[in-house]
Amino acid sequence: MSPAQSPRLVSSGRARIGDVGRAARRMIARPPAPNPIDAPGTSEATWRAWPELAGLPVMDITRWTSAVILAAHPDDEVLGAGGIIGALAAAGARLRVIAVTDGEAAYPCHGATDLVTRRVQERAAALSALGADSAEVLRLRLPDAGLAGRERDICERIGELVSGFDVCLAPWEKDVHADHEAVGRAARQVSGRAFFYPVWMWHWAVPADSRVPWHQAVRVPLPAEVASRKEAAIRCFGSQLLSTDPEAGPVLSADFVTHFTRGYEVLLPVSRP
Ligand SMILES: [Zn+2]
Repeated sequence: MSPAQSPRLVSSGRARIGDVGRAARRMIARPPAPNPIDAPGTSEATWRAWPELAGLPVMDITRWTSAVILAAHPDDEVLGAGGIIGALAAAGARLRVIAVTDGEAAYPCHGATDLVTRRVQERAAALSALGADSAEVLRLRLPDAGLAGRERDICERIGELVSGFDVCLAPWEKDVHADHEAVGRAARQVSGRAFFYPVWMWHWAVPADSRVPWHQAVRVPLPAEVASRKEAAIRCFGSQLLSTDPEAGPVLSADFVTHFTRGYEVLLPVSRP
């Protein structure tokens, strides 16, 4: 989905359909297509029953001595690459997390300032749970749900910040979330060796889905201790797992989170390594 077609998102995972300006509204003859993030998702049982997934080629990350991880929102990096972060931290790698937004739009009924404080603390706790306390966290403070069309801005902000690292990990540029896609495209432009980590893809895609470049996908197995640390890290994001908004459920449903409790993580290289 291109940025122009992407629904405007109001949070890490909550999409508001039809949130368009007056001028655009006059031009629309038909209602916008349903957002696949809002639709019922593919169960983790369905993914685990697909043998090709566990049979993806294994990628060795033991030679990575440094990594920069881009996150559109606090929790993306842990969901999509928390195991890799934990494994690299255990190996003494230099780690830098670039937080593009602070996720302040997750619950419109809450004050943004309070939510930012909480989400920043949650990320710090999650990194600690991963054994990655030493990871450097840089916050760009760009607007949550406002990254579509701001790739150039993102590129300018992260260009020098990603240099000097062995690899750059970023949300997938076709994750069907406008913020994730913008960060992914920026990573493609500024990093010579980028890998995408899917997040919402596990919800809207299905096994053998033709929209996913499975022929490029690789698998990074996680040691049992690292997988356990990742589960503990995910539990740190209480603001996303338990909704306090009377009009909305949690951003991260219990079913959705199970996608990130496998014994491996999947990356989509910009070009095959
Ligand atoms: Zn996100």
